[in-house]
Amino acid sequence: MNKGNKLYEGKAKIIYETKDKNLIIQHFKDDATAFNNLKKAKVEGKGVLNNRISEHILNNLAECGIKTHLVKRLNMREQLVRKAEIYPIEFIVRNIATGSLTKRLGIPEGTVLDKPLLEYCYKKDELNDPLISKEHIYSFGWANENEIETINKISLRINDILTGMFKAIGIKLIDFKVEYGKAWNNEIEQKEIVLADEISPDTCRLWDAKSEKKLDKDRFRKDLGNIIQAYQEVARRLGIMHEETNISEVNFGKTIPLKFKKK
Ligand code: C5P
Repeated sequence: MNKGNKLYEGKAKIIYETKDKNLIIQHFKDDATAFNNLKKAKVEGKGVLNNRISEHILNNLAECGIKTHLVKRLNMREQLVRKAEIYPIEFIVRNIATGSLTKRLGIPEGTVLDKPLLEYCYKKDELNDPLISKEHIYSFGWANENEIETINKISLRINDILTGMFKAIGIKLIDFKVEYGKAWNNEIEQKEIVLADEISPDTCRLWDAKSEKKLDKDRFRKDLGNIIQAYQEVARRLGIMHEETNISEVNFGKTIPLKFKKK
């Protein structure tokens, strides 16, 4: 599948059109950003790892009946995906309190939640993706009640599948963010709701089950170092990197020092 014009460049990905109006190519960049772009760096190899990890996870979800935008991985940095009309909402699922939840509500860090907590944020960089309620979603027509009920069920099912998948490899799934859209399905000749996002250590919080060492983007957010090594560890445990690969010798280059941009 040949790449056409660039349609959009985001913080971590570039989207290209293809000859098929229902398909696009998604290119994973090495750029890491946090705090709504205030902190930026290039982490060499991150795009390759996220491409592989996300492909693995989305294929596993598809095997469990979750509809996703992924058609296939094309190469080390690119995936062919179905073009989706994205809901302007980030769906966050939390199992253990950390991050913005602890800051916002003073819930002690590490509190195990009785049941998964679903949160919605409005996708708007200028406003720092604010937390919203279902009522905001319905009032402003960002999605209807049926769509939200369907997406909530899918998100909780994804949480179940991922929790098990990670538990089996000694990793706790603390929380994650996903986005959905409506994509054309040729078989049913109509649009359907699909998971239209990557699932990777950039978008999940993953802690080693024993040591609680962070194996996700918090290593970048909190300047903990060894970002690539943590992502490689997730890939290795998922079985994406062959056992015989001595990953410590893979040269992903060095991380470029962090730059802080004043807004
Ligand atoms: O920062 P916060 O605690 O709200 O993040 C919850 C989860 O959503 C984390 O796993 C984080 O990586 C993810 N997230 C994301 N993209 C955002 C905001 C949060 O992937 N814009």
